[in-house]
Amino acid sequence: MAAITNHMPTAELQALDAAHHMHPFTANAELGEKGVRVITRAKGAYLTDSEGEEIFDAMSGLWCVNIGYGRQELADVAARQMRELPFYNTFFQTTHVPAIALADKLAELAPGDLNHVFFASGGSDANDTNIRMVRTYWAMKGQPDRKVIISRKNAYHGSTVASGSLGGMTAMHEQGGMPIPDIHHINQPNWWAEGGDTAPEDFGLARARELEEAILELGADRVAAFIGEPVQGAGGVIVPPETYWPEIQRICAKYDILLIADEVICGFGRTGNWFGSETMGIRPHIMTVAKGLSSGYAPIGASIVCDEVAEVISSGEFNHGYTYSGHPVAAAVALENLRILQEENILGHVRDVAAPYLAEAWATLVDHPLVGEAAICGMMASIALTPDKARRAKFASEPGTVGYLCREMCFANNLIMRHVGDRMIISPPLILDTGDIDEMMARIRKSLDETYEKLN
Ligand code: PLP
Repeated sequence: MAAITNHMPTAELQALDAAHHMHPFTANAELGEKGVRVITRAKGAYLTDSEGEEIFDAMSGLWCVNIGYGRQELADVAARQMRELPFYNTFFQTTHVPAIALADKLAELAPGDLNHVFFASGGSDANDTNIRMVRTYWAMKGQPDRKVIISRKNAYHGSTVASGSLGGMTAMHEQGGMPIPDIHHINQPNWWAEGGDTAPEDFGLARARELEEAILELGADRVAAFIGEPVQGAGGVIVPPETYWPEIQRICAKYDILLIADEVICGFGRTGNWFGSETMGIRPHIMTVAKGLSSGYAPIGASIVCDEVAEVISSGEFNHGYTYSGHPVAAAVALENLRILQEENILGHVRDVAAPYLAEAWATLVDHPLVGEAAICGMMASIALTPDKARRAKFASEPGTVGYLCREMCFANNLIMRHVGDRMIISPPLILDTGDIDEMMARIRKSLDETYEKLN
């Protein structure tokens, strides 16, 4: 068979893809008819597809390409590391320089006493590590009954059986025997959809206090940890009311519950600080990181662990690890990505230029007849589509129908924007300048107008 290359006709690539490639989170049967979009290259915030179309990627891939596409430095580092030491593991009392250097760097960047790093290949398996680590921590402290981890409905923490259980996505729980035991879900702080007549601050407090109610119901001596994203990403970029996180923090401290911040999306500049925990004023015991850690250039994730938990875990053998924990090429790429983020002051750019400019533009979207809430935190943002913003009403159609339509309009306008139900979300590269933001917003407005026309 001839080699499969970027130069093949799109239809042939699509047919081969449909024949042999099973896509994640996709109704695979639909792909044959429709044909997948084949992405061939990327630069900055733009993708190019097999038809030569230039597409604005307002999602940074899957919330990950923080520094933008096409940075030669990362390719060079990967090639150098592949030549020098393409693989060695970090099991059984061995290590290598990229893993040492990356752990050291993460300990430096992470706030407080989060000084210890357990590597994974992505966010899902890092969260699996967290489940085992917090339960093992309590068992080693003589409290083996502290197993329950409290999470939130509509949370996303990954797609393995354990991390998918930790998440609160019902569509995921319906497949494959999830959730696993000893995971408990409370409600999310989504004021727009669920707040009713309550003021956002009161609603934030009420939703946080559900944690206390759950702890009392389950018994504090059975609860190991609470996990949450500082800002829920895949749930629809839900920015919690300001009252929410301080109350969660207070409750965790009161009952001696470990707090895990899932920073897989919020980490590495997305919210304007290194970590979303800093933006939201959270002091976690463990942070999950992935995605922006390497800007998606190599698969890598990690749990960044506080002194106290690491000390207990390290006092025995933790029977856990992945072949690719601290993979040398991925670690070297991540390190170079962090160097770029730091030396090019990309966080400063987010804070001083990109995020304020985007926030101003984003707020104007509520003028659009389809848009209710326009929520934003740093460089992640969402809009709630609604037929009646005064009532915060839902569409009569099946949830997600209008969101899907809007996403298709975005595709037609060469813009990648994602929908979660009838909420539209963006998480663009952090390096956008004001001209890029204007261009993105123009495409978003056009797509919204066309969606509105189609509905009316
Ligand atoms: N946690 C959060 C908050 C995520 O958004 C994701 C992925 O989107 C994950 C965990 C899972 O990460 P991965 O897909 O790298 O396994």
